[in-house]
Amino acid sequence: MLSVQQPAPETDSAYSTEFLLGKFDPAGNPDFSLIPGDYTSKSGIYLKSNALKDFIRMHDAALKDGHRLSIISATRNFNYQKHIWERKWNDDKFAHLKGSARAREILNYSAMPGTSRHHWGTDIDINSVNPADFDSGSQQKVYQWLCAHASGYGFYQTYTSKLHGRTGYEEEKWHWSHKEACSILSAYNAKIGHAAITGFSGSEYAGEIDVIGLYVNGIDSAMKLP
Ligand SMILES: [Zn+2]
Repeated sequence: MLSVQQPAPETDSAYSTEFLLGKFDPAGNPDFSLIPGDYTSKSGIYLKSNALKDFIRMHDAALKDGHRLSIISATRNFNYQKHIWERKWNDDKFAHLKGSARAREILNYSAMPGTSRHHWGTDIDINSVNPADFDSGSQQKVYQWLCAHASGYGFYQTYTSKLHGRTGYEEEKWHWSHKEACSILSAYNAKIGHAAITGFSGSEYAGEIDVIGLYVNGIDSAMKLP
């Protein structure tokens, strides 16, 4: 007798495995929009359309208060992240470190391909990626404005201070996540295991380091769903 196969109920089915791992081209994705030149110093970079809409509202409000917000990095897919990662992996600067020690050093600021929130079209770097600019330099006032107002537009600092137990990347005052990333992270945790983190130099250390537990989930508590 033939039995009818019911499709298994899928959690977070809106986000495919390929999407979660960054294995797609944002330029050809209907959920993504090109960031207009008024909001970025780069050309040809994309965000999820809802995140871009909220960023534009935030940008306009900041400008009224005298602060300029410019996106310097947005969606980066797997191949782009692989280029960044392997450039560092093969850099003489890291050559004295072997295996997982080299991966951990690079992980201070750079994600392994397949584990970056920049894959998702919700995360942006604003104005500079130099910590000193935000701590004591030209971006100090911008940062204060973002801390006071960004959540009103659906944006949160992802990698906050590690003093209170956050694990993973060092603090990044330039990296802000749109709220949709909360449900994307739930889908990621439901679907992606360390075996899926593969296809680049050093990927074999992902499980040993617990990249998903400590880094992908090493985010500010405001960005975690209850
Ligand atoms: Zn970033």
